[in-house]
Amino acid sequence: MRLKVKGLVLGERPKGETSKLLTVLTDICGVITVNAKGVRKISAAYLKSAQLFAFSEMLLYEKNGFYTLVEASLVTDFYPIREDLNSYALACYICESAGAFAPPGEDSSGILRLALNTLYAIENKTYPLKQIKAAFEFRICAESGFAPDADACAVCGREIGGDAYFDLKEGEVYCGDCKSGTSVLIGDPVRRAISHIICSDIKKFASFRIPESDLPRLSDCAERFFLAHAERGFNTLAFYKNCEELK
Ligand SMILES: [Zn+2]
Repeated sequence: MRLKVKGLVLGERPKGETSKLLTVLTDICGVITVNAKGVRKISAAYLKSAQLFAFSEMLLYEKNGFYTLVEASLVTDFYPIREDLNSYALACYICESAGAFAPPGEDSSGILRLALNTLYAIENKTYPLKQIKAAFEFRICAESGFAPDADACAVCGREIGGDAYFDLKEGEVYCGDCKSGTSVLIGDPVRRAISHIICSDIKKFASFRIPESDLPRLSDCAERFFLAHAERGFNTLAFYKNCEELK
């Protein structure tokens, strides 16, 4: 059976003398492994589509759950990301996370769109990498149905106008009167940033201003919230952090 997909290459490994096995996040069938024959030859027609971070329209041949690349038309390869180590490391983490959150075998267009918009933000350095990473971590949880309501207290329902308390484990935000023993204080700029990340149009999810002094708190909350929902570790996160330390 032939099928057309939009696909982002999350990983690649060599196969035989000239081929590759690609890990591809698709819009319609989750993450799949695609056999890309002959793409390591210099003269290969689909060379650029068979690389890490490449986003293409792909024609695949499927048989018994195995996919082979028939044709590919490159949309973008996000190549400039490779020219900066920190950007590259963050992009690898985005790809590993997107692969982990995509529902197997199902429509993954929301996760794919988020991954593409995040890579676009990294490529164009529209905001600090720390901010892009935090926005991605909150938004991918929201895309998967785990979104804290940052505008109203989860206990009394009152609109939160100022400081709020965030319980990372429960994924709930409380007002000062209802805070739990395990919740942490987040200032109003962090609360508003979380609300923007979760509620905004996907193209603008990382576009917000936050005082530099509040960014570490947002970053810390995002990563802990994300890891609590992912229920696993990520090698690429350790790699990203090592690169950060080298900066
Ligand atoms: Zn309350």
